[in-house]
Amino acid sequence: MPEGHTVHRLAAAFEAGFAGQRVRVASPQGRFATEAERLDGQVLLGAEAVGKHLLLAFAPSDDVAADDPAASLVHVHLGLYGSWTFAGDDGFAAAHAIGAPRRRIGEQDTAVRVDADADGEERDAAADWRRIVPRDAVRVRLAGAHGLADLTGPTACELYDQAQRTELLARLGPDPLREDADAERFVARVRSSRTPIGTLLMNQDVIAGVGIIYRAEALFRARLDPWVPGRELGAPLVRGIWDDLAVLMAYGARTGRIVTTQPEHRDIEARIIERSRGPQQNGDDEAGVVPREKSFYVYHRQTLPCRVCRTTVRSADMAGRTVFWCPRCQGTRTRRAPWSLEHPADAWALEA
Ligand SMILES: [Zn+2]
Repeated sequence: MPEGHTVHRLAAAFEAGFAGQRVRVASPQGRFATEAERLDGQVLLGAEAVGKHLLLAFAPSDDVAADDPAASLVHVHLGLYGSWTFAGDDGFAAAHAIGAPRRRIGEQDTAVRVDADADGEERDAAADWRRIVPRDAVRVRLAGAHGLADLTGPTACELYDQAQRTELLARLGPDPLREDADAERFVARVRSSRTPIGTLLMNQDVIAGVGIIYRAEALFRARLDPWVPGRELGAPLVRGIWDDLAVLMAYGARTGRIVTTQPEHRDIEARIIERSRGPQQNGDDEAGVVPREKSFYVYHRQTLPCRVCRTTVRSADMAGRTVFWCPRCQGTRTRRAPWSLEHPADAWALEA
């Protein structure tokens, strides 16, 4: 499942690629056909992300505000299997917040290619995006002046009105990537709960956008046992976790990559446990990118030595999702401020 930074990148991609344009809307699969017919030919006013939810605003003309009752909102939650695939011409790619046409799966992006020609030669999707026939599984296709976006396999894809948007924002916890986020709401919610901090961080009503990678890594960086009840934690520490997540997630939203390791730890035990190679993080082959096996302290590093103390990293089920932690660094309940407090963000090098 994508973590929140990916959904913010998607919102930025829609803003850059489609906002202000009249767009064609279709549902090749048919399950969004009635709604697509209503939206077809309308102007895509803009996009916003809140946690793992994406909202696209449409209206018959571009002089309508996105929060006007006349605007229609498309609410999308990708869930475990959903993804957006983008393709477009050079203008689309250039305007695109994420560069070349991309396919998004989980926290990763990979460039989209049209199927190989009969002679086996691959063609670049950017060259002929208008001729890409949607797969049968495409729930929604949006097509603008310079490119298209295909949605497949979402958990939710539905029309919202403004009241439903307001309800969604009220229900979800603050999102560290939103300017309107109220960090103190997160702090108060955590400190009033007897639920373990590791569970609270995954509860979208407590904090929106955190998934299993950011949970595991933020707890490691705070040297915090995932099973400590929220109400046992001091306000500065909880605020520190928020501030640390805000830095980590902003880096993720900017680059498409999750990197949580300090530079001095990246070459220690540079391994990760992967079931399959799968798609790599966007840009693994680009110069200066921290590769996946150097990017995390504990995520997918169960059974491997901790990069800091060499104790074996563990994993366990926690409220239905896997948690990863170092029992020595995080097991003694010696709580400390997250590194970001000791190393102000501007001095803190995520770049390789
Ligand atoms: Zn350790």
